[in-house]
Amino acid sequence: MSALLPLLPGQTLGVMGGGQLGRMFVQSAQRMGYRTVVLDPDADSPAGRVSETHLQFSYLAPEGLRQLAALCSAITTEFENVPSQALAELAQHRPVAPGAEAVAIAQDRAREKAHFLKCGVPVAPHQVISNAEQMASVPASLFPGILKTTRLGYDGKGQIRVSHASDLPAAWQTLQGNATTPVTCVLEKMLPLAAECSVIVARGADGQQVHLPIQRNLHREGILALTEVFPGGIDAIFSQQAIAAAQAVAAGLDYVGVLCVEFFLLAPGPDRDALGPLVVNEMAPRPHNSGHYSQDACDVSQFELQVRCMAGLPLTAPRQHSPALMLNLLGDLWFRHAEGAPTEPPWQRVLALPGTHLHLYGKSSARRGRKMGHLNVTGASPEAVRATALQAAGLLGIAPF
Ligand code: ADP
Ligand code: MG
Repeated sequence: MSALLPLLPGQTLGVMGGGQLGRMFVQSAQRMGYRTVVLDPDADSPAGRVSETHLQFSYLAPEGLRQLAALCSAITTEFENVPSQALAELAQHRPVAPGAEAVAIAQDRAREKAHFLKCGVPVAPHQVISNAEQMASVPASLFPGILKTTRLGYDGKGQIRVSHASDLPAAWQTLQGNATTPVTCVLEKMLPLAAECSVIVARGADGQQVHLPIQRNLHREGILALTEVFPGGIDAIFSQQAIAAAQAVAAGLDYVGVLCVEFFLLAPGPDRDALGPLVVNEMAPRPHNSGHYSQDACDVSQFELQVRCMAGLPLTAPRQHSPALMLNLLGDLWFRHAEGAPTEPPWQRVLALPGTHLHLYGKSSARRGRKMGHLNVTGASPEAVRATALQAAGLLGIAPF
């Protein structure tokens, strides 16, 4: 990071990627008086639509990177799989947060797990498998397990559950797809989960860190379905441990920016006896779906934290002022009437419920599994929030929780 920080409002901030995370970053930056530039190859991206400038180039096109560096005083990413070479190239000209190396580690489950262990944070027992021969040496203790590609997996894609050692070769073959060189995978032991949670930390160039409260997450079919956050929602002991672990992970990367670290809270049993109650799953080098509640329930959102980090502005500890529950709005909700064309969900009825905050990403068409938006619900008590969220879910066709 450059000594020219802080970058004050009026300056221009750039973001690699034009998805919904980029859109909400742009909106936060604009609210604070910054101009924005989005680089995304897609002519019609959620962030490109709202940014002052949209550079339509592929992420490695030299001309796109040149223009981005020329227009912006600092650059961030909203997209985990942005080529790290592009960030390294940009960093020769402008402050880039997070840095290329941290993003490269987060893109690779094997490197990520090695980093967690280096920071003293437990991970699921696992083995990296780079070729067919290595499959033979996998210990029986890793079954039942989950085979995951080390790169490019998201929302439960790129992973297969493997009950027995005898099922491993078929799962490996499936994950190889049509690749011409072997796709490295990691086999993880399937752990009995009591809950899943995540912590979002923000770290400045000076090493100062702040964090959002611990979030409890529910996934359905590998995709985040909802996040619930209120004091006491996760035991204070685990919450403190998770926050300390997330901070250690960020410090160990010399990270600058917003980082989400996802954890498994283990159910009582031999795995928990061996590993401890908290195991880290993965990290995302950017704001995260599980932090969206902060837009309406905290005095500083995760997107404002991203702006502050990259601009070198002071980081003040965010305060959650309302219990919150976030419901993800997937494209499936547009297809709740069996056949036929998509129909818009009943927004009027949802918005009639007190404490509902609708966030839609401006995507042109709904598809099953596509993240179209989210609904934040806030209220006076966790019980009231949950009751309202259940009503909203009923109206939207989201299964109860
Ligand atoms: P993605 O990158 O697609 O989010 P994850 O590794 O986070 O992939 O896995 C998706 C979900 O699968 C997790 O949120 C969790 O519910 C489940 N899962 C993944 N790994 C394990 C494991 N080792 N033990 C138990 N459940 C797991
Ligand atoms: Mg995950």
